[in-house]
Amino acid sequence: MAGYVAVSQTDIRRLAKHLGLTVRQFEKRHILKVTRKGEKLIKPGYETCQFLGEDHRCNVYEARPKDCRGYYCWEAKDPTVYDYARFVQHSVERQRADDRPDPPTR
Ligand code: SF4
Repeated sequence: MAGYVAVSQTDIRRLAKHLGLTVRQFEKRHILKVTRKGEKLIKPGYETCQFLGEDHRCNVYEARPKDCRGYYCWEAKDPTVYDYARFVQHSVERQRADDRPDPPTR
């Protein structure tokens, strides 16, 4: 689901170390929930993932989760995947407000 990234315990240990946190601190700050299947999900943040910067680059790239390592999209020139994730993440009302041009200034 857009905005939620599943992480394994190995991912969590790597991410925690990268951010200078203990596993417990990382989970408290960054894990949204554990699914019925025991899958841990990173809290959503800016647009899609909390580690995605405003420049559309991963802020934990060196320590990114395993699933992210096999997933190529944000660096692509074609913004289709990014736009779709944004669409799923936000209400239509909010997207309309975001996309509305600024009023002209005098
Ligand atoms: S690559 Fe980075 S920003 Fe993208 S989903 Fe994974 S952790 Fe989040």
